Amino acid sequence: MGKPIGSRVAARSGVGFLMLVLLLAPAALAKDATPRVLLLFSHDRLLPANAELEEGFREGIGRHRDEVEIFAEFLDVVRFPERSHAESMTRYLRERYAGQPPDVVVAIGPQSIGFLAGHREQLFPGTPGVIAGFTNRDLIAAEPITEVAGRPMVWTIEPILDEIPKCRSDIRRLHLIAGAAPFDQQRLQDALKVCEATDSGLAVTTSVGEELSSLHDAVARLPRNTLVVYLSYFLTPGGATTVPREVGSELAASASVPVIGLFDTYFGDGITGVCAASFRDEGIAAADLVSRILAGEAPDSIGILPPAEPRFVFDARQLKRWNWDPDVLPAGSIVRHRTPGLWEQHRGAVLGSLAVLLVQSSLIGGLVVTKRRQTRMAQALRRSEARFAGIFAGSPSAVAIVRQSDGRTVEVNPAWESTTGIPRADSIGRTPLELGFVIEGDSEQRFTEFLKSGKPLRNYEQAFRAPDHRMLTLSLATELVELHGEPCYVVMAEDVTGVREATEARRQLSRASRLAQLGEMTAAISHEVNQPLAAILSNTEAAEMLMAQDAPPIDEVRQILSDIRRDDLRASEVIQRVRALVTRKETHFEPIAIGDLLRHSVELIAHEVKRRGVAVEFDIVPGLPPVTGDRGQLEQAFLNLIFNAMEAMAETPVARRQITVSAVVESADRLRITVGDRGTGIDDGNLGKIFDSFFSTKEGGMGLGLALVHSIAELHGGRIGAENNASGGADFHLTLPLQRS
Ligand code: ADP
Repeated sequence: MGKPIGSRVAARSGVGFLMLVLLLAPAALAKDATPRVLLLFSHDRLLPANAELEEGFREGIGRHRDEVEIFAEFLDVVRFPERSHAESMTRYLRERYAGQPPDVVVAIGPQSIGFLAGHREQLFPGTPGVIAGFTNRDLIAAEPITEVAGRPMVWTIEPILDEIPKCRSDIRRLHLIAGAAPFDQQRLQDALKVCEATDSGLAVTTSVGEELSSLHDAVARLPRNTLVVYLSYFLTPGGATTVPREVGSELAASASVPVIGLFDTYFGDGITGVCAASFRDEGIAAADLVSRILAGEAPDSIGILPPAEPRFVFDARQLKRWNWDPDVLPAGSIVRHRTPGLWEQHRGAVLGSLAVLLVQSSLIGGLVVTKRRQTRMAQALRRSEARFAGIFAGSPSAVAIVRQSDGRTVEVNPAWESTTGIPRADSIGRTPLELGFVIEGDSEQRFTEFLKSGKPLRNYEQAFRAPDHRMLTLSLATELVELHGEPCYVVMAEDVTGVREATEARRQLSRASRLAQLGEMTAAISHEVNQPLAAILSNTEAAEMLMAQDAPPIDEVRQILSDIRRDDLRASEVIQRVRALVTRKETHFEPIAIGDLLRHSVELIAHEVKRRGVAVEFDIVPGLPPVTGDRGQLEQAFLNLIFNAMEAMAETPVARRQITVSAVVESADRLRITVGDRGTGIDDGNLGKIFDSFFSTKEGGMGLGLALVHSIAELHGGRIGAENNASGGADFHLTLPLQRS
């Protein structure tokens, strides 16, 4: 049967004489054969869940065995749902694995399990299977399958309905989101059933099979008392395939309320939390099962294990964004990306010394003590006071003590003075409002409410106007304690103005840096495209050979043509994705002060400019009229020119590395931006080609940067051109139409 003689699987298939062969086979031979495992995924290679599961699988296998050869194949059912695809996959797998059949097949996802059930006899007869990435219901619905072991997952919103109302009574409504693929729809049906069966008191609304643009609009307008539950979105109603994780991140960015996802792969990029079992853990569990089978257990004797239960995982950064107190999460929640806050970092020292102080002072007040004891106590109190004073004064965190009764500041430490810029003498006796804290709305009333509530604050960002009129963002942590019988707030403050700005800059830069990512993705993309291209080539050759026969087998040729078509579609899919990466989905035109945009864009990459030792000179005529354009795209175009200029000056001596950015009105209705450098310049022969896609003279260059600038210029009704300049470098001119008044 073509299997290595050492295969334990063959032995377990129950065929007596094979057992005999095995028993008689030299032991060394049996040991030497490296077991082969085939992972058969339902979806495509780029799906994050697949990557996670495979990673977990590899990690899990590594725990048990030194050598296992792992193969991975992808049925890609969303993009190729037709029956004929299953047939061509069968043919492909049969041919591919004829010489090296797997010892165990791991089917991942319901479609793959169905495929294995239907085609195992043809493809891998007698080979044991492991199944993963499925629910119990999938199993009931699927064709019966034997000789498999597996562990189901539970994808359910049940814990959300059970737990969220307990910790967030202000949330009154769940908004469920699903795409148009059958898998998406199934998730929605499941979720709706759970909603019907659960008396959570929450209203349920849905956005189902909507186009992404209207979905974005819908989630941006949700009322505050809503929680979005993002289920799955593999397919748009127009038939375009999507990566659910990416859709989730984009939705989370536009949503007016927090988004909770149903799969753990959605986590980390904008979603507030997930309620899910981990795909990585599923991979590890599948690997455990595979190694048990490789060690001789029969899959049927292992059977279907109890499922892994979903758990809540929250992103601390998002909780902060939504002012969601991390102390009011469902029990057992995991919080990731948590940076210890001010209070957490210093509470031990501050509260510890306060506690000593308070306990001792109350002992003194409350007890009738002998004179001697009293003296001892008074000394201890002084020591403790001194210790507290030492911690208070020496603390690197800005600390103030504010009386609860009237909100007046009782004491501040030196770090508070330097953070706020207000001398101690000026702070004492004044309220935070008088000191420059800017509370929106009716600030007096809100401050009084806060004082009365006695609530602690954690990492609460508050605007503050320093005496020199600079606006700072302070992150505050407060705790109500009793000091000498008087309730007071200990307030710790940290200046996070720089962090805020950096986060904002990073957010804005991320759009521009999508292009930079392209470089890194080149290798992966070319691999993805090369594979179908190679298949197309060999299929074409095979077809030519068949056609050269006297009586060409037309059916076979037709089949080959359909394979070619499939591979071609696959290659163009990959290219579509690259395109989606570099072009923004929607274009939003608005009047733009170009000088500000240019300066601002360079600020975004100030660090990189500095690292490369480049000076950027601006020569922008003041009072330029605005242009009409899409801010993000113009930024991207301009940053591409700047990056190219910096790259062209890599060999220029540092003292000469200068980029000049100028903007002038070129004619009555046009404005011209010029980016000039002192780099290598452009070979005359290349001047006509540099704006072509994929033209690059750089090692590893994609040749897409200028092509993109060209399309952005065109989209704006403008032009881009290049020429060499007197300094030996290149000048790039981008002309844009002025806003019509
Ligand atoms: P890539 O940077 O990936 O090569 P681009 O589209 O950004 O792709 O640029 C295409 C080619 O144009 C570059 O490879 C380079 O030869 C040339 N080029 C672009 N900008 C400059 C410049 N400022 N100075 C010299 N040559 C440049």
